[in-house]
Amino acid sequence: MSLSTQPETSTEDAEYQQRYQTIVENLASIREKMKAVAGGEKARLVAVSKKKPASDVLIAYKAGHRHFGENYVQELVEKSKELPSDIKWHFIGSLQSNKCKTLARIPNLWVIETIDSIKKADALNKSCESRDSPLKVFIQVNTSKEESRDIRKNGVEIEKCVPLAEHIIDNCNNLELRGLMTIGAADWEPSHGPNPYFRILVTCRDEVKKHVKQKNGMEIDLKLSMGMSDDLQEALEAGSTEIRIGTAIFGARPSK
Ligand SMILES: *Cc1c(COP(=O)(O)O)cnc(C)c1O
Repeated sequence: MSLSTQPETSTEDAEYQQRYQTIVENLASIREKMKAVAGGEKARLVAVSKKKPASDVLIAYKAGHRHFGENYVQELVEKSKELPSDIKWHFIGSLQSNKCKTLARIPNLWVIETIDSIKKADALNKSCESRDSPLKVFIQVNTSKEESRDIRKNGVEIEKCVPLAEHIIDNCNNLELRGLMTIGAADWEPSHGPNPYFRILVTCRDEVKKHVKQKNGMEIDLKLSMGMSDDLQEALEAGSTEIRIGTAIFGARPSK
C-alpha cells in the first residue's frame, strides 16, 4: 500500500496522462519545426486524425488545437457528431460524387481539399445548396503524375488546374475556391535533388492567379496545402501555407 496522500491513479488514468503528454509534446515539436523555417510559423497546422480514436482528437482539442483533417467520409461523420462543434474539419480524402451530400451535411466541415474534376465540383456544388454559406474548397493537383500508387494518383492534371478553377468560380455558386492542395511524392529521395512537386504547386497557384479572377474582378487569394510528416520543412520552404500532419502528432496508423 502506498503511504502517499495522493489518491492512487488507475492504469487507465495513467495511460490517458501518457497519451495526453505524447500528443501535446508532438504538437509542440511540430510548432518548433515550423518556426525553424522563415515565415513557417504563419502556416496552418492541420492535425490529420484518420484511423485514430476520437479521444486523441479531444486531447489535441483540449490543448487548443482546432483544425483537423480526415480522409474517410463515414469516420468523419461519426467523429463530427461526437466531438465539439467548434472543430474545423478538413476533408482531405479521395472525394466521390456520391458522398458529396453526406459531406455537405456536416455543419462544421471547414473545407474540402480534394476537388479534382469538374464533375465532382458540380456534384458538390449541388449538394451544398442548403448550406448557410458557400463551402470552402481546394483543388487537389497531381503534381507527381504518379498513376498507380495509392492516394497519389488523385488530383487534377497540372494542365487542367486553370480550367477547373475557372469552372468553380464561374459555375459553382455554393463553393468558394480557397486554395490548391497536393501530396507530391512523400517518398521523394533527397539524393535526387530538391523535391520538385511543391514548386509545381506554386506554379499552378501563380497560373490560376494570372488567368482567373474572382467574379468581382479581384485577384483570388489561394492557400497552398502541402507538406506531411516527412516533408513539412521542404514544403514550408517552398511556400506552403498549410501542412497536414498525422503520424508526427498521433503516431503510426494501423495498416489497412
Ligand atoms: C494521411 C494524410 C496526411 C498525413 O500524413 P502523415 O504522413 O501521417 O503526416 C496528409 N495528407 C493526406 C492527403 C493524407 O491522406
